[in-house]
Amino acid sequence: MMDTRAVHESAVVLDSHCDAPCMLIKGADFSGRVPQGYTPGKFPLTQVDFPRMRKGGVDASFFAVYTSNSLLPDAATRRALEMVAAIFDAVEHASDVAAIALSPEEAYENKKKGLISIYLGMENGAPIQKSLSLLRLFYRLGIRYMTLTHCGNNEICDSSSAPEKRWGGLSPFGRKVIAEMNRLGMLIDVSHISDESFWDCIRYSEAPLVATHSCCRAIANVPRNMSDEMIRAVAENGGVVQINFYPFFLDDTFTSEEKALTDRFDDADYAWRDNPSSPDLQKTLAQAAEKQAGIRRVSYKRVVDHIDHAVEIAGVDHVGIGSDFDGINVTPEGLEDISMLPVLTEEMIRRGYSEQSIRKILGENFLNVMKKARDVAEGR
Ligand SMILES: [Zn+2]
Repeated sequence: MMDTRAVHESAVVLDSHCDAPCMLIKGADFSGRVPQGYTPGKFPLTQVDFPRMRKGGVDASFFAVYTSNSLLPDAATRRALEMVAAIFDAVEHASDVAAIALSPEEAYENKKKGLISIYLGMENGAPIQKSLSLLRLFYRLGIRYMTLTHCGNNEICDSSSAPEKRWGGLSPFGRKVIAEMNRLGMLIDVSHISDESFWDCIRYSEAPLVATHSCCRAIANVPRNMSDEMIRAVAENGGVVQINFYPFFLDDTFTSEEKALTDRFDDADYAWRDNPSSPDLQKTLAQAAEKQAGIRRVSYKRVVDHIDHAVEIAGVDHVGIGSDFDGINVTPEGLEDISMLPVLTEEMIRRGYSEQSIRKILGENFLNVMKKARDVAEGR
């Protein structure tokens, strides 16, 4: 049996989607261990900080510059700039453990120096507004992938979460954005976008696509996940699907049980906020808590089920991991924060993956796609 620690440490471990910047702009200090557990007035629960990344053997992480689709355009641009600034500050304050990285080679170089590479990704293209010039500016600031939209339709394309679609795929501006991202070598992230938008990206992008944090619909049938046809198309174009750790995308049973609970108790929950001393509402919510505790948590092994399926469909060169930590309020059992990442390596070893395959999934595959996108940009 291979030694988990040795295999994990030999890999360049890359997490392609981490929402740490959401915590950084609230004032989290990542150079120390961020305190766990929510106490009013104290910092809320986080799943990532530099010491826990170290413990989890993480060599590189894409920090997501996330903006909500509910923000007005100028507010989105401002928020994105604040997040970029917060990332630069956090890395500067922890220069003995982390460094900003721009190219795929830096992940390997920084690992040799004992530094964690922090890459910048942008989750939602709203901050570029309708300006390719702003897109270029964000590239210059270090953004190396852009998730075209988030939970709503935007100027670029439609979202998988929007009940009504605005464009039926990419907008005319969105097609220009794709061409410019190809020219720059900025990766196109298809997580969160609608199926029609996805197929338009396949049609129009000259560079391989990435899904930085998406699971398999064949296992958990939610629109936010990817069908086998989509996974196959990403692989055929030379891209990569990075499996998300969010239990709602991992397991249908968990999702339906949780949904039944919210359907049944949400009204009481809202009513209780206005009337917290009502004995009836308190009794109802105590019942909800009891039911909640009875829902079986999703094991970290479910993440590896999705890896298995994606590998079966796409091949071992086209699968990776994108935790979504600090952007999710529920975690798999046994994978509660980034420090526990080696459990995935252990499970892949147990399931018979070779050391080489594990290294690919843990990081090499994504770094290779970054290289390919740059080759397209340079016309090679
Ligand atoms: Zn996301």
